[in-house]
Amino acid sequence: MIEIDSVHSTRRKPRKCPNCGSKRIARILYGPADFYPELTEEVESGRAVVKPCCTRGPVASWECSFCGAGIFKESGISEPSLF
Ligand SMILES: [Zn+2]
Repeated sequence: MIEIDSVHSTRRKPRKCPNCGSKRIARILYGPADFYPELTEEVESGRAVVKPCCTRGPVASWECSFCGAGIFKESGISEPSLF
């Protein structure tokens, strides 16, 4: 298991994971997957992940599909767009 040692933030979607270097970065969407029917393809291909809404605290904008590291959007609004 790979340890995630710090919080990463960036202004734009990173090309690769700052934690493990993987290029499999998925954007995170919050809310029931049913809310994003048009994104099924993206989710299935690993380019996006859908998480349950109402996560406490700051929410990451992207996630490494390989090690699971969360990547935060710097100085931007990373609140879920729902609700
Ligand atoms: Zn990673």
